[in-house]
Amino acid sequence: MGNIIRLLPEAVANQIAAGEVVQRPASAVKELLENAIDAGSTEIKLIIRDAGKALIQVTDNGCGMSEQDARICFERHATSKIKNTNDLLAIRTLGFRGEALASIASVAQVSLRTKRVDDELGTQVEVSGSSFISQSPVSCKNGTTVSVKNLFYNVPARRNFLKSPTLELKYIIEEFFRIALVHADITLTLYNQDKILHQLHPANLKHRIIALFGQSYNQRLIPVQQETQVVQISGFIGKPEFCRKKRGEQFFFVNGRFFRNAYLNHAIESAFHDLIPKEAFPSYFIYFEVDPKTLDVNIHPTKTEVNFLEAKTIYAILQSTIKQAIGKFNLTPTLDFERESSMEIPPFPENHPITPPSISFNPDYNPFEHPSPGPRPLKSFTSSSGSWENLYDPFRESEHKRSSQPTSAELPASGQENLDLGVSEHPLPVMQIHNRYLIGSLPNGIIVVDQQHAHERILFERFMALRSDKTSPPQKLLLPVTIDVTTDDAEMLKSMNEFLWETGFDIEEFGQNTFVIHAAPSGIDPVAIAPLIESILEDGRTETNTTQDQHFQGIAKSMATRLAVKAGQSLRQEEVSALITQLLACESPELTPRGKPTMMILSYLDLEKKFKHTN
Ligand code: ADP
Ligand code: MG
Repeated sequence: MGNIIRLLPEAVANQIAAGEVVQRPASAVKELLENAIDAGSTEIKLIIRDAGKALIQVTDNGCGMSEQDARICFERHATSKIKNTNDLLAIRTLGFRGEALASIASVAQVSLRTKRVDDELGTQVEVSGSSFISQSPVSCKNGTTVSVKNLFYNVPARRNFLKSPTLELKYIIEEFFRIALVHADITLTLYNQDKILHQLHPANLKHRIIALFGQSYNQRLIPVQQETQVVQISGFIGKPEFCRKKRGEQFFFVNGRFFRNAYLNHAIESAFHDLIPKEAFPSYFIYFEVDPKTLDVNIHPTKTEVNFLEAKTIYAILQSTIKQAIGKFNLTPTLDFERESSMEIPPFPENHPITPPSISFNPDYNPFEHPSPGPRPLKSFTSSSGSWENLYDPFRESEHKRSSQPTSAELPASGQENLDLGVSEHPLPVMQIHNRYLIGSLPNGIIVVDQQHAHERILFERFMALRSDKTSPPQKLLLPVTIDVTTDDAEMLKSMNEFLWETGFDIEEFGQNTFVIHAAPSGIDPVAIAPLIESILEDGRTETNTTQDQHFQGIAKSMATRLAVKAGQSLRQEEVSALITQLLACESPELTPRGKPTMMILSYLDLEKKFKHTN
């Protein structure tokens, strides 16, 4: 027997490569759009017929190719983007493997027309199933048009394997969006069956997002911005109340390239953790810029997976950036200065006094005066009458704490939009209306609070703090409370006992399915204890908490929901005032632990806009 190993013919090698690079029409769309971007285009047109099976055509106004390049670009490993291995370490273009055109041409009939600015005539090349068919001069515009016809005509297995036209078109649109979201400054048009599906004009990122996802996004986006040595992060996240039932608008880009990453996705979802329902997903459009040396984009043929050298650090930076952004958004009224119409509104009304940025603090407060803070009474837990007087006192303490150590997440973004929380110096004019909403005046506007939602947030944070802060002793009950539960609930109660202990409960098993409660968090009305345990168990039945933290959070949420003051309850002036100020002192004041909005801020600028003359 002679030797049997031989090199594969070029056409076969290309088809094998195409198996990786061109899995479906959308992959060809991605490669062609990326080439147009790499060619420096400012205007790109994508035409699709028959979900890409009949035709994918990309026309750009980029740099174009010479006659020879137009022929060679179909060779495998033909690229103008890298010359040596050093270049691989500093990739700034989207393509660099020189495989795309060769792969596409091996599984379709491709026609390329291209012209450089300085050339008088362009050139047209026809290739089919890796075979060169023809090349001839043509007169055409500057730039390049690549037409891919009858994709997979020579690979029936793959053609048959394609999903429904609707789904294949959806994948194509996804690729179009990913390019559109990175290149907001480029004019992009998508035609499907000769109809315009998307026509995008150059815009800033926010308006590009709105153009793609709809006008409602104008109200939904919170800007994100962070610059560090390791990474620069920018973009937008969706407000928690607009989270989605399905994993929808979640986009990561690094150095202008879309990628997926479960690890970094986790950083964002954990930052949203107790602000959105468990089965919901936050939207995000996050752009990372890193030194290309610290990024490996060459781990996957379609390059949608990347490796960050500093993944752990980036995770931490991303998580805190998102938390900060969420924390800020409700404290700073969202004014879209980039919107054309806002040009009519002067940023400062005439004679408007400009308040310098300031942080409120109590001048008498000395953090070193009380080395051990002593027991902190938590007296405002119940909605039963009589306990409300105490709402004010615990607040003052947390107010001091806050004033002495403001974190960046708590600080308003700019002096003009500064919220002065110093009640002791400037009592807030407040009122309750409809036995449900609280209205307060802030230095820069009006705050409207939902009393029940707000109190849920306040209590939740206080319960969460109890876990690390053991200064509030449980309240020993004069008459222990006995409860009977089902066998299932008895098991659950036992498994929760450790966490309940941490919140200040002392519960003892007392024979079959009976428990005796000897102590409860201070401030809880004894008659409220049995129903409280009942609702904690009820919530526990539906929750599927896996980690200890989630378990504890679940209990804290149940307790906060159960014990919060309800809508319909009339509050006294100082209770209203305390509730608003305590809410604003929360770490995440804008939503309840289950993700419902707690407050709304209407700035004077917003009001001015509302009452402005329209002629
Ligand atoms: P890669 O993008 O990895 O270099 P491709 O197979 O996608 O490989 O393209 C091969 C080469 O063809 C590119 O390096 C580029 O020089 C040229 N090319 C492809 N598309 C265009 C285009 N639209 N405009 C100008 N040049 C292009
Ligand atoms: Mg390419």
